[in-house]
Amino acid sequence: MPADLPPPADRARQQAAIGYIRAKVDQLLGLMGTLPLRAEELDDDTLIELDPIGIVADSFAQILTHLEETNHDLALARKQIRAIFDALEAAVIVVNPDDTVADCNRLALTWFFPDEGCASLNGRRFMEICSHGASLRALGGDGGREYDFQFGGRHYHAIMSEILDADGRREKIVYLFFDLTRQKAAEANLHLYAQVFDHTGEGILITDADNRIVEVNAAFSRITGYDAASLLGRDPKLLQSGLHEPAFYDAMWRELNENDFWKGEIYDRTRDGSVIPLLQSITVVRDEGGRKTHHIAIITDITHLKETQSRLDFLAHHDVLTGLPNRLLFSDRLEQALIRAKRDCSMFGLLFIDLDRFKYINDSLGHHIGDLVLVEVARRLQALVRRSDTVGRLGGDEFVVLMEQVARHEDIPLLAGKIVTALRLPFVIEGQELHLGCSIGITLFPEDGLDAVNLLKNADAAMYRAKESGRDGYVRFSLDLSDSVDEKLSLENALRGAVRREEFTLHYQPIVDLERGRVIAAEALIRWPGAPVGIEGPARFIPLVEETRLIVPIGTWVLREALRVFRDWRAAGLELDYISVNISAAQLAHVDFAPGIAALLDEFAIDGTHLQLELTENVLMRDITICRPPLLRLRERGVRIAIDDFGTGYSSLAYLKQLPIDNLKIDRSFVHDIPGDPSDAAIAAAIIGLAHTLGLEAIAEGIETAAQEAFLLGVGCHRMQGFRYARALPSDAFASYCANFPTSI
Ligand code: C2E
Ligand code: MG
Ligand code: MG
Repeated sequence: MPADLPPPADRARQQAAIGYIRAKVDQLLGLMGTLPLRAEELDDDTLIELDPIGIVADSFAQILTHLEETNHDLALARKQIRAIFDALEAAVIVVNPDDTVADCNRLALTWFFPDEGCASLNGRRFMEICSHGASLRALGGDGGREYDFQFGGRHYHAIMSEILDADGRREKIVYLFFDLTRQKAAEANLHLYAQVFDHTGEGILITDADNRIVEVNAAFSRITGYDAASLLGRDPKLLQSGLHEPAFYDAMWRELNENDFWKGEIYDRTRDGSVIPLLQSITVVRDEGGRKTHHIAIITDITHLKETQSRLDFLAHHDVLTGLPNRLLFSDRLEQALIRAKRDCSMFGLLFIDLDRFKYINDSLGHHIGDLVLVEVARRLQALVRRSDTVGRLGGDEFVVLMEQVARHEDIPLLAGKIVTALRLPFVIEGQELHLGCSIGITLFPEDGLDAVNLLKNADAAMYRAKESGRDGYVRFSLDLSDSVDEKLSLENALRGAVRREEFTLHYQPIVDLERGRVIAAEALIRWPGAPVGIEGPARFIPLVEETRLIVPIGTWVLREALRVFRDWRAAGLELDYISVNISAAQLAHVDFAPGIAALLDEFAIDGTHLQLELTENVLMRDITICRPPLLRLRERGVRIAIDDFGTGYSSLAYLKQLPIDNLKIDRSFVHDIPGDPSDAAIAAAIIGLAHTLGLEAIAEGIETAAQEAFLLGVGCHRMQGFRYARALPSDAFASYCANFPTSI
């Protein structure tokens, strides 16, 4: 029985109960329509009588129970819906028709109103609270019922739906939001992959497990010439060039099956039939169960790379300037020739060619002219040899010829002779006529060496002998030459060490003027205290210094030291007309020669007239076009020029007119035997006469005796140099010698 029903015995409350029951019965009747009675037809007593029977109360209780159960079910359903509502992977916002928020779920709060609670949203206007209202407002309007928008850096898809009442009026609007951010990112990734696939420079080919082509990219089509349509469904075998053995492909598949990867160079055939080199990698793709699903092949066209490689290969084996085989390739050819000759018991010849006077041209006219000369030399050499011979350039002005399949010994010197003649012909380079010549050393296999190293070394030794014996010719190797080469090498090393350790010194030999009765000048002469036995004097080591090109640094040192000492002498009160310094051809040819001397004069504040350069006739005669410009420049500074060892060189005296010469130094070979030797006496007298006629000074060198002195004074020469007065002395001794002259004689 329900708790709020009054007990029947309580009459005071009975009326109230009757009213209550009547109302309830009416309700019941109305609701159920099952009883044959209507409440107003019953009087109170009947009702009360009825009540004890319990009909009304029972029914009422039943109905209340039923209602309670229904309420309970409803509450449960609501909770369930709430739980589902909150568990949804979508945000839901329910809005009333008047735009106030009726409800929203957990995700809606998290996504859109992280700072608000659900309660604070309820009753507020939806559009106001949405910071992204503009986006949402489009929903339901012209924007349709679905809408994509971005909020807080994320992508959302919104769906709007309406709940209508029985009359079709809008009761609620439900907004559902889905987060599309991940999906969008995945789509973007896919798009990116597609772009990469389409635009990468590498060709990509994908085949299925049966190795049928399922996809190729644009680059693959471009490289192979096949469009995608003509490849799909086919076996990549159609690209095979036929250049690889079946074993090549077997090995490739074996490796693929074992390691799921293969990489290598491969030649394929393009659609137009040409063969191209490719760098190819193949990767096997497997599913989760380990089953092969695809192969991905990536190819790079390495045609260009191969070309570069072979170009580099060429460069590594050839001389860039002349295109001739370089030392590396030549040595290789020589080794091959050795193998063939040993096998066939045949012989071959090796010519070691060194250009005469090339360094001189290179230094004085510049590398550009030098290079052109070398190219022309290479051309002439190649024109002379047969196809079976090899011409190589070992570096600098050194060339080699390997002459194979030689029938007769004589053929080799014959070729050498032709080469000498060919290189003797003038070289006309950029309008200038240049004269070179060459020295050639010859070795024959097997007589002159059994391996490449010895054959080359001995040919080099023979070439040196050719140079020593006057150049412009050839010499066949002989055993006695090999020692002199070794000797030369060790000397060269000793010289380099001496330059490094500054082991050289200068001594000074007085030049006296007997008319004026005083020392007028000093000739600086180099000394090498630590010189190896046998080459102590400069006459012996200077030619070697010239050959090794150490003459340029050593010569510069001599000039600087001589000028420094001259300055110190003057500071100490020793007045000389000039200091005389010997100059070699290579120094004169060097581009820095004239500017270098000018700078030294400036450095020591010495007037140019106080410096005399001694040049031999041979130096001057070599190439007047080369030595003239620097000498003229120096002459502008007042520098004096003397011809040293006059009379021993070429006989042409034309240069005396073309060059700014001040002084002729009569070689001591003419002085030595005078006055006894009438022809020497005549020559000495003639030189002195020539000097006077040309307005030049004359100095006689190598005066040792009073008779020599008397004769020379008699023919008008009063400037002397020789042991009769003094040997070359250290600078201090020289100064005191001068101070005591002439009593020191
Ligand atoms: P040179 O320029 O003709 O020098 C004269 C040489 O004759 C010197 O020999 C000197 O000592 C020697 N001499 C002088 N008077 C007499 C004498 O009365 N009798 C004899 N028998 N000899 C005499 P040295 O110093 O041995 O020099 C030899 C050559 O070496 C020089 O001949 C010169 O051509 C060269 N030389 C010396 N120093 C240098 C240098 O610094 N640079 C260059 N490029 N060459 C140099
Ligand atoms: Mg001299
Ligand atoms: Mg001399």
